[in-house]
Order: sequence, then structure tokens, then C-alpha cells
Amino acid sequence: MENCIFCKIASGQIPKKFRYQDENIVAFDDINPQASTHVVFIPRDHIENFEMLTDDSILASVRRGMQEVVKEKKLVGRGYKVLVNGGGAQVVEHLHFHLIGPIGLKI
Ligand code: AMP
Ligand code: ZN
Repeated sequence: MENCIFCKIASGQIPKKFRYQDENIVAFDDINPQASTHVVFIPRDHIENFEMLTDDSILASVRRGMQEVVKEKKLVGRGYKVLVNGGGAQVVEHLHFHLIGPIGLKI
């Protein structure tokens, strides 16, 4: 998609350090982090939003990638959130999954 910032990141047109990548997705640090770890996972292909997602292999990739980053960033025991903004709540119209932490635990 022309003029889609996340398509440009996925294709390398806008350079980013990828925290995770595989055949389906890439992941990179959010430019406006909500916590010390805030990584955005996006499909390589332009999928507009969560409602448009039909390919479960993307979910499997996001699961693997998030589990790796959770381990690397030592988030277990410190709390984290996995978030998708949808239904008009998202700003960037290219599907993305946020991993945000640590967020502190409610015990
Ligand atoms: P959402 O509100 O779910 O659409 O979130 C979009 C997210 O993308 C926000 O957290 C932004 O800070 C982030 N974002 C926008 N542009 C960039 C960029 N060029 N690099 C990294 N993150 C970005
Ligand atoms: Zn896109």
C-alpha cells in the first residue's frame, strides 16, 4: 500500500531495527512507547485491521515473536499487556499488535 507507514517499515523503505521477523511478520519498537518495552508486531502484507484478518499463520507468528520478546525483555513476573486497537480505535490503518511492559502487577 502506497503511503502506509507500516508497509514502508515492513518493506525496509523506512529503516528500523527489527526485534523479531519471520516470513509473516516484523516487529519493531514503538516510536512513542507507553512503557520501557513497547514493541509493535505487524504483518508484512497490508491488512487494514483485525476484522480483515483471516490468516491464522499471522497469529501464530505473533505468538512466537511475542513469547521471544517477553523472554528477552524479562517481562515474566513484571507484567505485560498484548493489545490490538480495532473497530475504529486504531490510528495506523495497518493491523498491528502491541506488546507493552512492564506494567506492574495487581496482586
Ligand atoms: P494504534 O493507535 O493502535 O494505531 O497505534 C499505532 C502505534 O504506532 C502508536 O503506538 C504509534 O506510536 C506507533 N507508530 C506510529 N508511527 C510509527 C513509526 N514510524 N515507528 C514506530 N511506531 C510508530
Ligand atoms: Zn500497510
